[in-house]
Amino acid sequence: MSNNLQIYNTLSRSKEKFEPLNPPHVGMYVCGPTVYGDAHLGHARPAITFDIVFRYLLHLDYKVRYVRNITDVGHLENDADEGEDKIAKKARLESLEPMEVVKYFTDRYHRNMDQLNVLHPSIEPTASGHIIEQIELIKTILENGYAYESEGSVYFDVEKYGKDYEYGKLSGRKTDELLENTRVLSGQDEKKNSFDFALWKKTDPQHIMHWPSPWSEGYPGWHLECSAMGAKYLGEKIDIHGGGMDLLFPHHESEIAQSNASRGHDPVKYWMHNNMITIDGQKMGKSLNNFITLDEFFSGNHQLLDSAFSPMTIRFFILQAHYRSTLDFSNEALHAAEKGMNKLFNTIEIISKITPAENSSIDIGKYKEKLYAAMDDDFNTPIAISHLFELSKVINQANDGKASLSGEDIELIEELFNTFVFDILGLVNEVESTGDDKLVDELMKTILSIRQNAKQNKDWGTADRIRDDLGKLNIKIKDTKDGAEWSIE
Ligand code: ZN
Repeated sequence: MSNNLQIYNTLSRSKEKFEPLNPPHVGMYVCGPTVYGDAHLGHARPAITFDIVFRYLLHLDYKVRYVRNITDVGHLENDADEGEDKIAKKARLESLEPMEVVKYFTDRYHRNMDQLNVLHPSIEPTASGHIIEQIELIKTILENGYAYESEGSVYFDVEKYGKDYEYGKLSGRKTDELLENTRVLSGQDEKKNSFDFALWKKTDPQHIMHWPSPWSEGYPGWHLECSAMGAKYLGEKIDIHGGGMDLLFPHHESEIAQSNASRGHDPVKYWMHNNMITIDGQKMGKSLNNFITLDEFFSGNHQLLDSAFSPMTIRFFILQAHYRSTLDFSNEALHAAEKGMNKLFNTIEIISKITPAENSSIDIGKYKEKLYAAMDDDFNTPIAISHLFELSKVINQANDGKASLSGEDIELIEELFNTFVFDILGLVNEVESTGDDKLVDELMKTILSIRQNAKQNKDWGTADRIRDDLGKLNIKIKDTKDGAEWSIE
């Protein structure tokens, strides 16, 4: 197991040598989506960032247990303690059961993640499936004196906690200043301090998702689920905890507080945060109408897009920036990513055509070192990609007779491309898979013409059977004047 890996730890604000608590095992927890809408570019970035971490650790032969949760309860509007649960609101507006909303958007999220070739996590727990664990955690925090009950709700006592521990150490916020600024605002609140966050909220009449607890019929605070589920599946100290930078405060800061308040120690060794995506230089926001969903990218069906962009283009685009840098989306940047990626795939096709020479005129071994050095340097995918481009230049030179490569080095290049392009960066050659799409098109044409013949011969049994069997594969047949059309549901 090569271990030169350095990870930037948000907590220490520096790169640290990666030394898991219990090697070769690595526990990784990543905050997953709140499932009340379609996944957009902002969901793709953390998913792909931590997919790279997962893939690289597996490549280094670590045994990784990767937990990514589904937030299906208690995530309130504006991420505050007040307001309505986003899922419950969607359910109320559409007259659905909240769990119908959850299932629908979870399935769509999974489909998008598969399209982006994001590996499945080892465990994908839901907040609603771990209410008991969350209630137990609240009880411990109450017993330890870092929370208080008020009007059936339970709040974390930030001021009390701040006397024994440091609230704000992850985000760099100063508790004293926060308390000074917020104390004035509280007043007739049921909280001692407006800065205190909810561990349990008593339900109000319009709330449709609630559970019994020792304090009231209600629901857990959002920050609690990750503390409860992380500890359940990865133990009381997790190697890596990741998420988007927007989760740093208050979500992850509160997770640290909950862990100290219940177990007396920090929950995580390495905190990792991916930076945000901007769209044409602007933050993504509802008011700007620039939340482009992944499906919209894949179909090109959005006013800001000048064409459709394939899932691998999105993936490559994201990997061309280091995860801690901001990444600005624009049509031009995506077209450039697409072109670059295709160039890389074209090179891979050429490798096998090169005639081996006796000796190599270029040192290929150094590229191997450079590629690992890039990934070891806090998963620096843009640098790794730049080395792959250099290697691609070498291949083209060798193909044009301007450089020579030994048989051994040609094999090494093939191995490096396979390892880095496919296994570690997780890219898929979509040009190859369009071959499959063409095959499906031809097969469907044949099947539909058999059905058309059956109908002409009034063989309704066969015609219906073809329609029904295709229906089971989620292929929908629509009869038109000129025959039949098909689509995948
Ligand atoms: Zn979380």
